[in-house]
Amino acid sequence: MDYGIVIEKIHQELKAYWGKGKVADYIPALAEVEPKRYGIAIETLDGHSFQVGDADIRFSIQSISKVFALAMVTRHLGDRIWKFVGREPSGNPFNSLVQLEYEHGIPRNPFINAGALVVTDRLMSLYEQPKDAILQFVRGICGNDDIYYDKHIARSEREHADRNMALGYLMKSFGNMENDVEDVVDVYCHQCAIAMNCKELTRAFLFLANHGVNPFNQEKILTVSQSKRLGALMLTCGFYDESGDFAFRAGLPGKSGVGGGVAAYIPGNLAITVWSPELNRHGNSLIGMETLERFTTDINNSIF
Ligand code: GLN
Repeated sequence: MDYGIVIEKIHQELKAYWGKGKVADYIPALAEVEPKRYGIAIETLDGHSFQVGDADIRFSIQSISKVFALAMVTRHLGDRIWKFVGREPSGNPFNSLVQLEYEHGIPRNPFINAGALVVTDRLMSLYEQPKDAILQFVRGICGNDDIYYDKHIARSEREHADRNMALGYLMKSFGNMENDVEDVVDVYCHQCAIAMNCKELTRAFLFLANHGVNPFNQEKILTVSQSKRLGALMLTCGFYDESGDFAFRAGLPGKSGVGGGVAAYIPGNLAITVWSPELNRHGNSLIGMETLERFTTDINNSIF
């Protein structure tokens, strides 16, 4: 199928949605991004790629990095990670504190901030140089050694991280944090500040579409079962309190970030990334969600 024609049409139509959402501004450096950006990139497992719009411009991947951190920790800990973090949708905003108190410091899932902080904490216990290890992992899965942290964004988030610090200390008080909270939040702010474009993120998601095996060098990143589980978590928790709606509309496992990126995939077939920085009230890219709904509808294919 010529996905290029499909995304050209969607891209043309959805530019009309510019101005309906709002760029994230609770991290000041994210507010500097030009709102009228819109890129889409697709890559299929049989080697075809398609792109339209701003697919070459790098942006802050933010919470999409939670998928990579979880994949890294899963490789080492396997099912042991589920002692420290749950796997149910939270039904709450991504940065919410409320459930932690009565659920004894165990976050609902690894994709809300509390859960991602626990995952980053365990990652730090596994690697001597966690920031280097994260970059190395991401560079490996997208086959590009030129992926870096955007230090300006990392610093800006670190300076405005009171809420994530609060989550970290609350979990530490319940004994669910192994490392120094300041250090964990610092590494977390860096992973969120990885800068990638739609093409690079799409490539980085292809190992998930390929059931855990990097299609470029055949390296086994995750087992088939681990890859299935990561996909199931994305489907049920990848969009916070809008996860049900994304599953309903797009029918794909995917992950969003407040930088405006949405990466998703069709198992056994392709990966797709959309970037449009204006967010809806749940902190998900407004045009990104709409693009993926139209895409799976137009191509008559999703996981359902
Ligand atoms: N770095 C962001 C934060 O912690 C990530 C949130 C997101 O992308 N939803 O608030």
